[in-house]
Amino acid sequence: MDCLFCKIIDGDIPCDKVYEDDKVLAFNDINPVAPYHILVVPKKHYDSIIDISDKEIEIVAHIHSVINKIAIDKGFSDAGFRIINNCGSDGGQEVKHLHYHILAGKKLPNYED
Ligand code: IMP
Repeated sequence: MDCLFCKIIDGDIPCDKVYEDDKVLAFNDINPVAPYHILVVPKKHYDSIIDISDKEIEIVAHIHSVINKIAIDKGFSDAGFRIINNCGSDGGQEVKHLHYHILAGKKLPNYED
């Protein structure tokens, strides 16, 4: 499968790793829009959140648990942060492998439209 994040997970493309366990990999976004911009990616390929069945929903809880760990480890849990999941073309998803963005390190703008 020609998937950028699968290639990063397999080690075929390098990344700036933040966290890894048997289920997820987290790495710095190549084009950050905040002082912290980290992607949390399940190692199993799902095109998007819509492909997660009820039977596999625990991976989402695990991702959120990893996000909390990263926020505490990096020291931005008290100041706050934003979690974004883009789903599909109207949602602005460019890489078709489920991932969550963590944005932190500055006061983030409110949505305008
Ligand atoms: P999406 O728009 O939610 O699909 O976000 C995809 C994200 O992947 C964007 O923020 C990109 O900057 C990021 N990205 C694309 N290629 C790479 C890479 O090779 N390493 C790290 N991040 C990447």
